[in-house]
Amino acid sequence: MPMLNFDNRFVRELPGDSERGNRPRQVFGACWSAVQATAVAAPRLLAHSREVAASLDLDEQAMASPEMLAALAGNALLPGMVAYASCYGGHQFGQWAGQLGDGRAILLGEAINRRRQRFELQLKGAGPTPYSRRADGRAVLRSSIREFLCSEAMHHLGIPTTRALSLVGTGETVVRDMFYDGHPVAEPGAVVCRVAPSFTRFGHFELLAARGEYALLQRLVDFTIARDFPELVSSSEQRLGAWFTEICERTARLMVHWMRVGFVHGVMNTDNMSVLGLTIDYGPYGWVDNFDPGWTPNTTDASSRRYCFARQPAIARWNLERLADALTVLTLGPDELAAGIERYDEVYATEFCAAFAAKLGFLAWSHDDSELLEDLFELMRQAEIDMTEFFRSLARLDIDRPTLDVVGQSFYRDDLRQRFSAPLSLWLTRYAARLHQDGQPATLRVARMNAVNPRYALRNYLAQQAIDRAEQGDTEMIHELLGVLRTPYDEQTGREPFSAKRPDWARHKAGCSMLSCSS
Ligand code: AMP
Ligand code: MG
Repeated sequence: MPMLNFDNRFVRELPGDSERGNRPRQVFGACWSAVQATAVAAPRLLAHSREVAASLDLDEQAMASPEMLAALAGNALLPGMVAYASCYGGHQFGQWAGQLGDGRAILLGEAINRRRQRFELQLKGAGPTPYSRRADGRAVLRSSIREFLCSEAMHHLGIPTTRALSLVGTGETVVRDMFYDGHPVAEPGAVVCRVAPSFTRFGHFELLAARGEYALLQRLVDFTIARDFPELVSSSEQRLGAWFTEICERTARLMVHWMRVGFVHGVMNTDNMSVLGLTIDYGPYGWVDNFDPGWTPNTTDASSRRYCFARQPAIARWNLERLADALTVLTLGPDELAAGIERYDEVYATEFCAAFAAKLGFLAWSHDDSELLEDLFELMRQAEIDMTEFFRSLARLDIDRPTLDVVGQSFYRDDLRQRFSAPLSLWLTRYAARLHQDGQPATLRVARMNAVNPRYALRNYLAQQAIDRAEQGDTEMIHELLGVLRTPYDEQTGREPFSAKRPDWARHKAGCSMLSCSS
């Protein structure tokens, strides 16, 4: 029997819903509802993350046990587990949406490892809860593979994220109309076990504020600080402001990371924003192939592009303002939260420059570098240059004789390569001159650049290939990708195909360039 130690503070210290069962309802005066996962017919462990297992002190034998499989499928609880869904609201696409809640996520409690670290476990797709509204509480295999792989890929890129312990096939089908166009299809179902110190979202606080449940709002703030931000417990009367500022800082750093690697979340609603500054709720996300600030992978967002690549930092800030609105009633004075937003701007600006200084191999960011970078972005956009390939290749530039060949692989179109070879060569010459100013040994510069410019990313078409094969019963590519993405900054001999740019067939294919929320 796999052993985990549980200390379930969320349900112990915060009030729960008095009603049992899954009747869809508004839940007042409570932060969670007790639920039971719905058992599935034929669960199979398709993949797991050995690193996440290890952080929970679970060895490979424990992961292979029938008890573990039953728990990860939602068919049984391990000793100490409690099953509940948490209650939150959120702003979706800019509008207040009221109560949302864990409609297809079921928390299993808080595991404490030998190092006294706390991890909430959460099943995604394990059946309906009181927050499911009219939906089924399930998840399809394709989106579960995407969440499983991307959580782990992000972690190995050094980006704060919720993790994924396991991917379990349910042996059941789930019906989805992928593009909401009247073509529902029965697809294989799956359950992912997600792991994070906390799954608390901005929306948890927003809902209590919107309902005027201020005493409970204060309780949830106190609880969150005590459990998840213990370093702030001893702060004085400015504790709320200090906490909000910390959330702002973490969110700013997260946005810089996303912009650095070309990750587009796709649904940055406030219910999908973690107070810990983690990437959370992988849905219609995507990775930028050809550099395009206006690109969004989410078909639901295609017309307004609210959540496109370039707008993410501004949207995160807007979301922080919504969190500030929710917390205002608890403040002593009007300025207590304003400092947090200011801090967001400062940290974002500083960290963005630091990140791009590293990507470009500069010792430090200097004022004039902004123009160089802006010019590069504009060239990359117009010439449709692949972001990951370009930045990785740039480290190979001979700065005494800068030529276009090193980045030649990053074009998608021959006509654009021809049209932009002169302006890009000119840019490379300016860039080489800038590097000369630093006088840094090439080996150091290259090492510095390679540590932030990944060779491998979970390109949308790669995830889709793994999905296509898994839907035919072949999970090999999931394991291959998990392996490659474990060391994304290393050149991996024999695994070069995994770094290939998007092939032509994937340019407009569902799953590769277009994704919907239907998952
Ligand atoms: P998302 O856009 O995935 O963050 O989901 C927004 C809200 O819809 C959350 O409250 C989810 O729990 C809920 N939701 C999404 N898909 C389902 C589903 N298949 N069953 C029940 N609730 C869902
Ligand atoms: Mg969500």
